[in-house]
Amino acid sequence: MTARLIGLPKVLTYRNQKIRDSARDEECLVRLPGACTHDPRTTIWSHYRGAAGGKAGALKADDLCGAYACTVCDAIYDGQRKPPAGMTYADVVVAWFEGHIRSIVRLHEKGVLK
Ligand SMILES: [Zn+2]
Repeated sequence: MTARLIGLPKVLTYRNQKIRDSARDEECLVRLPGACTHDPRTTIWSHYRGAAGGKAGALKADDLCGAYACTVCDAIYDGQRKPPAGMTYADVVVAWFEGHIRSIVRLHEKGVLK
């Protein structure tokens, strides 16, 4: 809405239900040591938290900007839980980004991204 008021083009947010649905039964690729459940039943598509991925307020980042993460790794990345012992939040962000790269490769392997 602000962008429209000041004359900027509307930013389109990329949504892909196939990407989000593909998290079902995937292994967590964020893998925070000492915290990750390593339980595919808890894996979700975790969205990037920064504005660079199109996040704006309650609007989630583009679906391309995500990672397969178990609910515990996602909650730590989201700030709802503390980082595991020996890790800073910056370490968690790096782990999430590595998980993001692994997830993009996995999406291509599975044919979800072509
Ligand atoms: Zn995990």
